[in-house]
Amino acid sequence: MEIDISWYKKKSNHFPQSSNINLQTLKKVIQNCKKCKLHETRINTVFGEGSTSAKVMIIGEAPGKDEDISGKPFVGRAGKLLTEILDSISIQRKDIFITNTVKCRPPENRNPHDDEIKSCSKYLDEQIKLIDPKVIVLLGKVAANRILNIDEPMSELRGKKYFIKENNIPIIVFYHPAYLLRSPLQKSKVWEDLKFMNNIITNYDC
Ligand code: URA
Ligand code: SF4
Repeated sequence: MEIDISWYKKKSNHFPQSSNINLQTLKKVIQNCKKCKLHETRINTVFGEGSTSAKVMIIGEAPGKDEDISGKPFVGRAGKLLTEILDSISIQRKDIFITNTVKCRPPENRNPHDDEIKSCSKYLDEQIKLIDPKVIVLLGKVAANRILNIDEPMSELRGKKYFIKENNIPIIVFYHPAYLLRSPLQKSKVWEDLKFMNNIITNYDC
């Protein structure tokens, strides 16, 4: 294996128990949220799942049909590919945290609108604060453009480190697995993305 993931095996210095209580509270708030019109058509809110002391936080675009039905992120076809990608460097989903820019499914899987992402961004900010990961991975152009607030193509977004607002957590951009399902020739580039992520964590880990 070319990628050294020793950082992944190290014990975390977070306090998952107290974070857990806060994340549980936040989850309940989101379950009752009606701040944007996506609440009208959802079956379930999709808070996100994984470790409360995750070093890697993955942020996708929005829940799809399978996620809306199950209330869990990335459980459909794209989710299976994401699980395989992580598996290729021996990372298990339970050890990272996975969520989306919005917690409710947009009708017909359309892209979430700016105002919806804005309404939901306080929850995402709170999740980032509570989990305090070493790196945030944005999946695809929609999540990247809206969260980083820059309108660049994926070719420009990948392989760079970004920082937002007051937090000092490096943010990087990966291809969205749904795009990789449509464009399998790009799958080989996933390895570059994983190596880039790994270098960042290794350099920040102490
Ligand atoms: N696509 C996303 O962006 N998020 C999910 O949770 C599932 C598919
Ligand atoms: Fe609330 Fe976010 Fe769902 Fe909109 S998408 S209703 S802001 S939880």
